[in-house]
Formats: sequence, C-alpha cells, structure tokens
Amino acid sequence: MNFNVASPETNEELFEVIAANQGRNFRFGAGCTDLLIELKKQPEKDLTVINLGYLNDPQFNSIENNDGSVRIGALVTANRITSDLTIQERLPVLYEAANQLASGQIRQVATIGGNLCTASPAGDMACALVALKAECEILSANGKVRVVPIEDFFTGVRKTDLKENEILRSVQIPVNNSGEKVHSGFIKVGVRRSMECSVVSLAYHIQITADDIITLAGIAIGSVAPTIKFASSACEYLTGKRFSEIGSSESEEFATKILEYASPISDIRASAWYREEVLFNISKSIFE
Ligand SMILES: Cc1cc2nc3c(=O)[nH]c(=O)nc-3n(C[C@H](O)[C@H](O)[C@H](O)COP(=O)(O)OP(=O)(O)OC[C@H]3O[C@@H](n4cnc5c(N)ncnc54)[C@H](O)[C@@H]3O)c2cc1C
Repeated sequence: MNFNVASPETNEELFEVIAANQGRNFRFGAGCTDLLIELKKQPEKDLTVINLGYLNDPQFNSIENNDGSVRIGALVTANRITSDLTIQERLPVLYEAANQLASGQIRQVATIGGNLCTASPAGDMACALVALKAECEILSANGKVRVVPIEDFFTGVRKTDLKENEILRSVQIPVNNSGEKVHSGFIKVGVRRSMECSVVSLAYHIQITADDIITLAGIAIGSVAPTIKFASSACEYLTGKRFSEIGSSESEEFATKILEYASPISDIRASAWYREEVLFNISKSIFE
C-alpha cells in the first residue's frame, strides 16, 4: 500500500488540504479501521489520505451535554462513548451499540464519524443513532455548515449524502428531560460472538410515562436492507399504548410492522429467510 498522508491540525489547514485535493483522489481517515481494510482489498493509485486524527477542534472531538440534546464530535471513539456517563444515562441504546462494536482494540480507535461515513448497513453505532433520530452536522471546506436528518445521510450501500468538499463534524441527538423511563437496547445477531459485524441488528429507544404510557418510540434495523431503516409504522403502533399491556398478539403485530422495512439479501453469512426470521423474533423479544 502506498499513499500520501496529510495531517491538518486546525480547521484552516483542513480547509486548505481539502481545497488542494478537489478533483484528485483523496480520502479522509479517522481511526482507519475500515479505510485500511478497504485499501488493502482495493489499492488506489495516487491517493492522499487526509488524516483527521490531529484535528484540535473540540467540535470534532468532544461530547457536549446540552439541555435538550447531546452533541458528539465525529472523532469521538467507541470507547469514549462507552465510558461517558451522560451517554450511559441518557442514551443507553448508543452505549450498548458502541459496547458491542468489534473488540476492545478496535473500539479504542474506531470513531462514531467513521461508523456513519462508511455507511455500512451493519454499522452498530449508526443503527442506534437512527433509532435516536440524530442529525448530522456537515462542514464544507468553505466553512459553511448544513444539518441533515440521519436517515437522509445514508443514500445507499456505503454511500452518503456528503459532497467531495464536505466532512462530517458531529451528530446531535435529541434527549428527553421529562424524567420519563426509557426502555432501550441494542440486539445484535452475528455468526460468532466477537469481532463480527451483525447479520441482523435492532436498536430500540422507548420512553414511558410514570403511568405506563409510551410517549415516544424509536426503532431502527440494520443488515436487512441497503441502508439502516427507521421503522416508522412500528413506532407509531407503539405510541400511546400502555407498555405493560403489550402482550403476545401486540408484539407479533409490532414485529410484522418491522418486517415491512426489511428487504434482506442472502449472502455468505446468512440467507434472506434466516435474517427475516431472526428479525421477527428479536423484535417480539423486546417486550418479554
Ligand atoms: C475486525 C473488525 C471488526 C469490526 N467490527 C465492527 C462491528 O462489530 N460493528 C461495526 O459497526 N463496525 C465494525 N467494524 C468497522 C469499523 O471498525 C467501524 O465502522 C468504525 O466505527 C469505523 O471508524 P473509523 O474511525 O475507523 O473509520 P475510518 O476507517 O477512518 O473511516 C471510514 C470511512 O469514513 C470516512 N470518514 C471517516 N471519518 C469521516 C468524517 N468525519 N467525515 C467524512 N468522512 C469520514 C473515511 O473516509 C472512510 O471512508 C469492524 C472493523 C474491523 C476491522
């Protein structure tokens, strides 16, 4: 593998290096856990890697706990996410997804931004962020910023809405300050237990009032369609119901609604039939 590396430290240097590489072959690298494997499989000629690892802008590097939201910089690693108390308490589905990603060594360097920008339908943190209805903050090399809902950020398998001169700076996640209970989790099924991307995944974040009413539901599914999907009709089905009254017939109806969003393929890791069966069963299981 042979490529040039540029390591900007400030936003000005970043903008300069992006501008200098327009129309040329360049890629961003954060933790490089995806990028290096991709380049090993498919080496590219005359490539410049813009290494984001030395950027000192807190907007890329920090976790901010605001009143109605949590903002996470694109360069924050999976390990930092799992050790952050705000995320453990307010966004447990994201904590669980980050904690199940790959292995300790990979989590040490793998970033949340890399997990989103690689746009794999099996992205663990990405799946949790879709369930949480996060927004992506995108910075352009001319200094302009735009915000897109996470579902619109993914445009296909390994494709995002990012333009050539744009970079993901952070994600913003709405949080609930009402003190409602949260029933949430990340269920990941793979062919083995560790170092493995999912063959099916399900992220759920359900808010419940003190008198047991579901006020908000966010459900996302991974590895069963070209992009991670938000299961709107399943979320609508739950909203307004009494959580403790969801029995087996309601959970089956809920699981059937989730399947509407799945269009899995058969590949070397699992058949489409298997993925649908597993998705149906794990969907029901969240009420058991
Ligand atoms: C052995 C192994 C096991 C793995 N297991 C899992 C798993 O269980 N679950 C899972 O979800 N993933 C898994 N992965 C994939 C990978 O570790 C994650 O997707 C990780 O979060 C990628 O982050 P990174 O910082 O390493 O990204 P990088 O490799 O640095 O970048 C990934 C892509 O995103 C682009 N990019 C990165 N940051 C930005 C940015 N801020 N703006 C614009 N573009 C950007 C890069 O150009 C590249 O195309 C695994 C990888 C390996 C090697």
